[in-house]
Amino acid sequence: MRARALFTATIALTTLAAGAAVPAQAAKPAEPPKEPVAVGYGGAVSTVDETATAVGLDVLRRGGNAVDAAVAAAATLGVTEPFSAGVGGGGFFVYYDAKSKRVHTIDGRETAPASMTATSLVNPSTGKPYEFDEARISGLSVGVPGTLLTWRDALDRWGTRSLSQMLTPAARVAEDGFTVDETFASQIAANRAAFGQFSSTSALYLPGGQPPVVGSTFRNRDLADTYRLVAKRGTDVFYRGEIGRDVAATVQHPPVATRPIGSWPYPIRPAGMTAVDLADYRTRFPAPTRSDYRGLEVYGMSTPSSGGVAVGEALNILEQYDLRSMSAAQAMHHYLEASALAFADRNRYVGDYSRQDVLRELLTDEYAKERACQIDASAALPKPVAPGVPDGAYGGCSAAAVADTRDDRKSTTNLTVADRWGNVVEYTLTIEATGGSGMVVPGRGFLLNNELTDFNFAPTQGTAPDPNLPGPGKRPRSSMSPTIVLADGQPFLAVGTPGGATIITTVLQMLVNRIDLGMTLPEALAAPRASQRNGASTQAEPDFIAAYAGSLPPGHVFSRTAEIGSATGIEFLKGGRLLAAAEPVRRGGGAAAVVGRWPRN
Ligand code: GLU
Repeated sequence: MRARALFTATIALTTLAAGAAVPAQAAKPAEPPKEPVAVGYGGAVSTVDETATAVGLDVLRRGGNAVDAAVAAAATLGVTEPFSAGVGGGGFFVYYDAKSKRVHTIDGRETAPASMTATSLVNPSTGKPYEFDEARISGLSVGVPGTLLTWRDALDRWGTRSLSQMLTPAARVAEDGFTVDETFASQIAANRAAFGQFSSTSALYLPGGQPPVVGSTFRNRDLADTYRLVAKRGTDVFYRGEIGRDVAATVQHPPVATRPIGSWPYPIRPAGMTAVDLADYRTRFPAPTRSDYRGLEVYGMSTPSSGGVAVGEALNILEQYDLRSMSAAQAMHHYLEASALAFADRNRYVGDYSRQDVLRELLTDEYAKERACQIDASAALPKPVAPGVPDGAYGGCSAAAVADTRDDRKSTTNLTVADRWGNVVEYTLTIEATGGSGMVVPGRGFLLNNELTDFNFAPTQGTAPDPNLPGPGKRPRSSMSPTIVLADGQPFLAVGTPGGATIITTVLQMLVNRIDLGMTLPEALAAPRASQRNGASTQAEPDFIAAYAGSLPPGHVFSRTAEIGSATGIEFLKGGRLLAAAEPVRRGGGAAAVVGRWPRN
């Protein structure tokens, strides 16, 4: 949830549909909805923020399709959720095209500059990897952003509106402002020392040295100007023009404040991103991952995200068991063990340059059988479990395990959109940590990502090669798992969430909750969560521990965490009805909305 926008003005109606019959002056848009569940027809939007949901819904109402609405909503999240996502970051866009009945994806992941090497995240003076925050709050962590090109390419391929049109409502929100809420203020407060090191970031987010007051109006005119400049001149102004030059200059010469606010324990290091790195950036269009689960087709994001492969492999493992006939505790036991097994493989085999044949093997049922047979119903496997050998020769149970359980942070955002024609978008976008690299590009109003800290700083796989070491032009492995599930070739479910590496387990758990455990989609989103990522302990919310710790087989060790993820989703009900769901409570709750409510009044 984010602050409520004050924009009462028109949402760029005059620019919306060139040639379409739209009024020159818009009516005031409906008060932004903020409900976690909405049932209806004609299209639906679910995001973490009511303003973004309202903007997306407005696009649908005016005849835009799911891709148009997803881009307009995402651009708005760049204003109201600037610490999670924006044009300084990247993401993965999964799209079901109703006409062709096919699922497409866009990989808009941030990319390492040409100057990055396998040891760029190792301190040359100590030979040790940098501390996470040391790398994060610096130029070293910043990847070439992919979000703006993702939006352009999605609209060019599948949209019906221009990027210029879809940036306009968000520019309006940035200019008119929105009301600061607890989450917004607390995310700044948590980043005060980091933001306070930079003149540009403190000027925007620490006026007078403190976060803006809850209830005050927050405006970001620089970001409004950035959006309008891109709207006018196209994405080249970012990738080949003055905004890109400012991005590179910020990385090369971090805008360190002469009088910092608060103290920071590390030197702020520059890095070598250049304007050429921006000009060289390309989105990619990989085939989605696909796994069949209990008669359904599950489509996810391929590399550089590990989401599709890990969720798919874990589902294939779980498919070996009849979870419905188990007690809830046994079903959760199997879910946790399948997660650990899939994570062992993800850590060993999945990175930007993974071999396609290996990825394919990881998603075969034969391989899943070999992995599944290790699960013991009467006790948890000692963690870490070893990765398997996806070599195409399967038989008995495969068994020096190396853990890699980093990356459980809580930034990022997710949205789900469906339109009246049956097109569906599931989109996860991020700047990595909450607050990214901490550096606002001076005069441009957006934060740069710290996505390159998603690389492993040093090898994690013992003597085996690590698929996720940095390299020039390489994309760091992600866990983002935007997922679309088809039943009989038609959309059945679309879900996604933020949460670093917990994204994989949360998406998996929501699918298991909905498909196997008989929960409704809102229940599946709300249910207490646990995340086992092949570590000695399983991260879990207090309610999960209270519900299951006493009844699980021995061997599970939990570490308590207040909350995991902040999901959105849509279920496609009978008769063309849509059930849009957003997080009810976590991160302040999200906003689901439908074009036409059901039952009709
Ligand atoms: N950077 C993470 C990833 O790509 C996402 C961060 C988060 O969700 O907190 O997997």
